Amino acid sequence: MSRVHVLGILIAIGAASVAARAVQQPPAQQAPMVIDVDKVKDNLYVLKGGGGNTAVFVTANGVVVVDAKNPGWGKLILSKIKDLTPKPITMLINTHTHADHVSGNVEFPATVDVVVQENTKANMEKMDIFKENNGRGMAKKTFKDKMTLMKGADQIDLYYFGPGHTNGDAIVVFPALRTAHIGDLFASKSLPLVDSANGGSVLHYPETLNKVHSGIKNVDTLINGHMPTTTTWADLKTFAEFNQDFLTWAQGALKSGKTPEQAAAEWKVPAKYTGYSSTDATLFGGVAGRLKRLAEETKK
Ligand SMILES: [Zn+2]
Repeated sequence: MSRVHVLGILIAIGAASVAARAVQQPPAQQAPMVIDVDKVKDNLYVLKGGGGNTAVFVTANGVVVVDAKNPGWGKLILSKIKDLTPKPITMLINTHTHADHVSGNVEFPATVDVVVQENTKANMEKMDIFKENNGRGMAKKTFKDKMTLMKGADQIDLYYFGPGHTNGDAIVVFPALRTAHIGDLFASKSLPLVDSANGGSVLHYPETLNKVHSGIKNVDTLINGHMPTTTTWADLKTFAEFNQDFLTWAQGALKSGKTPEQAAAEWKVPAKYTGYSSTDATLFGGVAGRLKRLAEETKK
């Protein structure tokens, strides 16, 4: 038998076993559900994976959770928390209405207090998942601009400064730890997603970020909606400037008569924003979608 012939047979056997495996396994195998835990401070953790970043704040009498990930991830959050502390979960705060931040709510014990900004409650009421679960996981307590929960080392301050990612983006501050969960208002170092159906605003985005930066004191660490590591208060300032530069550019592009699609094709991350991604998130129409939203808002 020639070497070429043997090789041909081996390839044929290999191909047959690949084919057999393909039959045995479902073609679109689901990614394994894994949550990675980071310790941010002694009693504050970030649970990563399965949607937005979840914060776990261990207080004297119980655990406060911020955001609950995609559908089906609530149970895994609960089991991860059991590894961290025997204390019961007493409160769940959602930074905003999106499915990758609130869906796990329905898997939490019904006794848990759910707290959100008031516009987020209205947005959540439109979501099927809460209707399908007879209102389980739905917000019970709301705030408008600011609310303080608990005191001393356990104090939590909730703030809302105006429309951005949605019209109900809460910033959750743990003053004793000089740390805040800022959700998707600052999800990552790239152009933010703006959800116009839930009241998000391209026009007001930079202004809202500036209000956060000047209106909250004594925070130096940020947990972001979708970043693998924390960021700093200085990073927030840079992110506000990045968004202001984008707005100024977008307003100029629309004024010059370009269509959103034409202008979007020309946009790049300005060179000074090192570490920023130019990835055009396709959700909510990408860069062109943001220009369309701005045009809509400017007409009003
Ligand atoms: Zn979001």
